[in-house]
Amino acid sequence: MTINQSGWKPEIAVSGAVLASPTATGNRALMLEEPLIFEIGGMERTGVDLAEAPAAPNRLGGMERATPIGLPGLSEQETVRHYTRLSRQNYAIDLGLFPLGSCTMKHNPRLNEKVARMPGFADLHPLAPQSAVQGALAVVHELGEWLKTLTGMAAVAMSPKAGAHGELCGLLAIRAALEARGDARSVILVPESAHGTNPATAAFCGYAVEDIPATLEGRVDLAALEARLGPDVAAVMITNPNTCGLFERDMKRIADAVHAAGALVYCDGANFNAIVGRVRPGDLGIDAMHINLHKTFSTPHGGGGPGSGPVVLSEALAPFAPLPIVEKDADGVFHLVEEETAGADHGQNFGRMVAFHGQMGMFTRALAYILSHGADGLRQVAEDAVLNANYILRSLEDVLDAPFGGTGPCMHEALFSDKGLAEGFSTLDVAKGLIDEGYHPMTMYFPLVVHGAMLIEPTETESKAALDQFIMALRSVAERAKAGDEALKGAPWFAPRRRLDETLAARKPKLVWEEVGGLAEPAAAE
Ligand SMILES: *Cc1c(COP(=O)(O)O)cnc(C)c1O
Repeated sequence: MTINQSGWKPEIAVSGAVLASPTATGNRALMLEEPLIFEIGGMERTGVDLAEAPAAPNRLGGMERATPIGLPGLSEQETVRHYTRLSRQNYAIDLGLFPLGSCTMKHNPRLNEKVARMPGFADLHPLAPQSAVQGALAVVHELGEWLKTLTGMAAVAMSPKAGAHGELCGLLAIRAALEARGDARSVILVPESAHGTNPATAAFCGYAVEDIPATLEGRVDLAALEARLGPDVAAVMITNPNTCGLFERDMKRIADAVHAAGALVYCDGANFNAIVGRVRPGDLGIDAMHINLHKTFSTPHGGGGPGSGPVVLSEALAPFAPLPIVEKDADGVFHLVEEETAGADHGQNFGRMVAFHGQMGMFTRALAYILSHGADGLRQVAEDAVLNANYILRSLEDVLDAPFGGTGPCMHEALFSDKGLAEGFSTLDVAKGLIDEGYHPMTMYFPLVVHGAMLIEPTETESKAALDQFIMALRSVAERAKAGDEALKGAPWFAPRRRLDETLAARKPKLVWEEVGGLAEPAAAE
């Protein structure tokens, strides 16, 4: 076994020049190279020492495995080192600023973690009798009340497990409401700048998806929307603030026009961080909106989960909310309504979306965050998030093109384009250069309405000093991209891996390790 079998060829740039193989091991100072787990260890080593199993009659009827299962054999120490080394190659919100726009990667207060780990919450069983889990039901109920109050909405469905799952919940409620009035419709309108999950959700529900163009100011074209409304349109899905980081100022007029046409309004609330405590979506005429607890309310996310996407619903949609529902009776006792055949109030529910009750750990963290901020603190979250994003926008618009910078302040995220970079230089080069500077790149090439988009969301949890350092780093990379610095095209020079063939990796991902002459096939790496 050699250390470099995964295809990494150590080389390093010093003042633009490339030096090959700076170390014998492939390690870069204290950043240790690490092969795949299957490439280390062997079946003769293991972390446990089991006694020989007593002979037992074989009851598999000849179906037993004939060949070894091929698990990697590692000692406990090797296992711990393997995962610790891998974890050090990762970037995390606990390491540094995470500028990913649309993702709201903010600090997760340790208080949330402490509360979520309290045995009364952490050790709950979803089938425990309701009388034994009144405190947990109270948490779900109180969080739901906060979400309804903050959004000015009539009802809340707590069980969806992510933003996209919340979109599904909202559209299923909309469809149930339309079908209940015998008016099943077939089209969902989605603005061009929408997050990919919006059209995907609509298509998943069986709707035809049609784009609504944006104005030159980066907002929904109201006239185009009004022109398209008709008896076949079930709903519009609008993100507000939108994915260009701009507030949809016409939201109320849009909602009125949509309602007048007999359709409903879904709002993608992933960007609620920018307006929480300042704007109540219910006042804007919205019928359904998911809230990403793992964005706005600070619960940890990334790498695919866990998430939580409760959906708030208007009066019109409240009767169609999915089960389960937590209710509080006149005696202060909480009830988990789980039966499809429950009382008249829930008779029109569209069913249920999850096996149990939702993400309890996320509920606990989100409520801890909300209560520790209080109403005034939540409002300040939005104000500081917007202030920080505008600080970045105005600090960098002299070196990076800000397509909507002239239309006024942004909301919680600053949007730049690749206009003005030197010939042959792209957003990708800027992003890779940022990795060398010690930052996870910003969101790239999204929203699609802006060429070479770079979407940056600092969140309210970054200090001015942290923002200044990030601005300094991005300014330096942007200046190099404008000056056509060839070394930038090779970035990242200092990361554990250099540029990958991303198309090959996405199109033909190698998800299964295959032993080839005792060594792994190289991954799709340069
Ligand atoms: C994050 C996000 C989503 C999807 O939320 P998930 O929890 O990742 O499923 C949808 N829309 C927007 C605008 C988002 O930022």
